[in-house]
Amino acid sequence: MSTVNAIAAPSATDPLVRTTIERREVGPRDVLIEISYAGICHSDIHTVKEEWGSVPFPLTVGHEIVGRVAEAGSEVTRHAVGDRVGVGCMVNSCRECDNCKAGQEQYCLQGNTGTYAAVDRDGTITQGGYSTHVVVDQDFVLRVPESIPHEKAAPLLCAGITTYSPLSHWNAGPGKKVAVVGMGGLGHMAVKIAVAMGAEVTVLSQTLGKKDDGLAFGAEHYYATKDASTFETLKNTFDLIINTVSAPIDMSSYLSLLRLDGTLVSVGAPPQPLPVPVFSLFNNRRSFAGSSIGGIAETQEMLDFCAERGIAPEVEVITADQVNEAYERVLNSDVRYRFVIDIDTLR
Ligand code: NAP
Ligand code: ZN
Ligand code: ZN
Repeated sequence: MSTVNAIAAPSATDPLVRTTIERREVGPRDVLIEISYAGICHSDIHTVKEEWGSVPFPLTVGHEIVGRVAEAGSEVTRHAVGDRVGVGCMVNSCRECDNCKAGQEQYCLQGNTGTYAAVDRDGTITQGGYSTHVVVDQDFVLRVPESIPHEKAAPLLCAGITTYSPLSHWNAGPGKKVAVVGMGGLGHMAVKIAVAMGAEVTVLSQTLGKKDDGLAFGAEHYYATKDASTFETLKNTFDLIINTVSAPIDMSSYLSLLRLDGTLVSVGAPPQPLPVPVFSLFNNRRSFAGSSIGGIAETQEMLDFCAERGIAPEVEVITADQVNEAYERVLNSDVRYRFVIDIDTLR
């Protein structure tokens, strides 16, 4: 075991504080990663506020992690000391169930092991990336192409894959009209990735305040959802809607925007249910779906796609002491478009 610096939530109501946590010894199949940047995902905030259920405090969150391999176990073949690597939302899975065998470890039938707040295989509670080092099984460590600016690589590990996966699964591409609801961390990546896939992209944001940014990211259209006429104008329009909103929204209004056989996929994870009136689905034979992060192979595919296409998130790099302030800004939809902690400020 080794003791490393970290930022942790002491409870659901106290601010996050600097502290130390323990990391396990590097096992034969493990790599020790010296973390350089960690992104702040809204899921970190839902978690520490116990909006999704009780969590074991004190807890270090963070599942958008990039750094370099500092040590590799004796049986490690996939990564070498000095490699630039990343870790996303999971650090293990059963590897034996049908979903794991299909490369969909995020849907492991025994539950994947989350990067934080999960019971690890040694019985300890996993602790996330707001810390200087992490030890992870080599199979759950991604190769991060050097061409992606280092601080911008971190958000791809959650915001990138969570939007890439449904866009790819539901065939966003040329001839497809895709709407992205909410342009925060996930939403702005959804826009960039859907544009790169060749789709015609529309942003549905609360206001027009970020319209210039949305168009600069490649969206062709941008509407304010606070304006009721938006829902009249865009009725029966989209093949695919990706909902990234962290709060409940009125499903019947958004479903009415789908054309024949269109699908609304929610990746946003509000703590409250999202009631769906069935008649909104009957019209145009619409589907309502959900999607959770992505598998390890698909995450690698996304990283390589972003490197090849020159896609990277917009980030605001902060110090370890600015995390609580950043949380407040995320909660106020005041994020442009992902906060990333410079972990050197934690050493
Ligand atoms: P974020 O940066 O806070 O973005 C959410 C955006 O939703 C905001 O920027 C805002 O966009 C919009 N929004 C917020 N409150 C709203 C409200 N009351 N009504 C309407 N729109 C509102 O959050 P994020 O990190 O992208 O995460 C978004 C959600 O995805 C969270 O619930 C998170 O837990 C979830 N998530 C799910 C997965 C998964 O695997 N499915 C993975 C990661 C995250 P505008 O200002 O443009 O309106
Ligand atoms: Zn996340
Ligand atoms: Zn499994």
